[in-house]
Amino acid sequence: MGIDISRSIFSGFHRLSLEERCARVAAELGLSDAELAALTGEEGLGAEKAYSMVENALGFFSLPLGLGLHLRVNGRAYVAPMVIEEASVIAAVSFAAKLVGSAGGFIAEAEPSLMVGQIQLTRYGDPESARASILAARSELLDLANALQPQLVRRGGGAKDLEVRLLDAPEGPLGEPLLVVHFHVDTQEAMGANLINTMMEGVAPRIEALTGGRVFLRILSNLADRRLARSRCVIPEALLADYGLPGADIAEGIVQASRFAQADPYRAATHNKGIMNGIDAIALATGQDWRAIEAGAHAYAARTGRYGPLSTWTREDGNLVGEIELPLALGTVGGPLLVHPGVKAAFKVLGHPGVRELACLFASVGLAQNLAAVRALGSVGIQKGHMALHARSVAVSAGTPPEWVETVAARLVQQGEVKVDRARRVLGELKGGVLPFVSPHNEDT
Ligand code: NDP
Repeated sequence: MGIDISRSIFSGFHRLSLEERCARVAAELGLSDAELAALTGEEGLGAEKAYSMVENALGFFSLPLGLGLHLRVNGRAYVAPMVIEEASVIAAVSFAAKLVGSAGGFIAEAEPSLMVGQIQLTRYGDPESARASILAARSELLDLANALQPQLVRRGGGAKDLEVRLLDAPEGPLGEPLLVVHFHVDTQEAMGANLINTMMEGVAPRIEALTGGRVFLRILSNLADRRLARSRCVIPEALLADYGLPGADIAEGIVQASRFAQADPYRAATHNKGIMNGIDAIALATGQDWRAIEAGAHAYAARTGRYGPLSTWTREDGNLVGEIELPLALGTVGGPLLVHPGVKAAFKVLGHPGVRELACLFASVGLAQNLAAVRALGSVGIQKGHMALHARSVAVSAGTPPEWVETVAARLVQQGEVKVDRARRVLGELKGGVLPFVSPHNEDT
């Protein structure tokens, strides 16, 4: 069981000071001092661990960590740790999650952890004979692959099936199609790259022996299209009313944004970038291989031969309906999960979900982020809200001391010019005592 955060304990969280936020989070989520220190960055990776993780290590690189709030997925409430340098993403996710939460929350599902391992075979002679030889040895090859990961098999995972693909890959006079063997491997709670790569390298010599061909590449595919996660939300249009506009107008703007993304890869790329703003941020906080997630998401978006949106929005019976589907190769074991104290603390905040539950949450975070973006884009535009949040980092860049950041940021927004030069001027005025304090407008997160 996870942490019950169904009460609105995080209402007004963004208005608290840093110290108050830390105290609230620790008390409400039952975090120890060490876990809180891991989230605030006071206690990060020790030098020894960091130096064993990458080559030529010099030190550490920090990014802000915030909490995505109000997320409700399959009836369960979550606080989502998110690591990102871009202002507005965490506010957007929290805002949209609250909106969807008021309509019952996200309904999500995630497929089992089936990943693809690939073996590339060349110089095998007749394509159909080579294919037949491999398929005839199906059981033997699966057993061989599984013998390389006995623990995984004991957990119910392992290589479950294989297929042979002949791909048109012209290469001059030989004209040989490329033969690729796909192993479908259930990696259980692991992302699975290392597990699969070990299997593929282990079975490759037997495939060469069976066919007389030569194997080159032996590695997993990041197009994890057998490991899809889906999330859906249904929002009564009346709940969308905002900016002085009726809900139906906002819903129409969102549906038009969706239509644009479906028709145009230029728009779809930006639509999906917004989705990945949310997913990458929670991926970083939970120690996932976000490059693998990104590669899978964009390859999946182009699966029909034309790049398209990962989510769609429609209007049905007075409701706005949002749906997202994408591959999510996540892990709750392995990789940096074992070593990074911040990742361990993030899993505690999330209530230690299993890998499929985690994928449901990731998909819902992506859909929430997308909703916030298209809601603003299809109505008043994103710059007003975005620049209000961006103004704080501009104020910091201008050398504003922490106690004046909110005032300088508010002034920049008021003046409609969120630039470092302007921030320096505002700072000068503030120091000269001519600027009154102005509270910044911010969407309730
Ligand atoms: P690991 O190599 O850490 O393997 C996970 C390990 O966790 C398994 O070997 C398994 O060991 C153990 N384990 C414990 N409990 C479970 C469980 N319930 N289910 C599954 N495994 C369990 O990680 P992955 O194989 O997941 O590989 C991910 C890493 O590979 C990431 O760091 C990624 O960056 C990297 N990578 C990515 C590539 C790509 O995406 N193209 C390429 C190469 C590497 P045991 O069975 O022995 O107990």
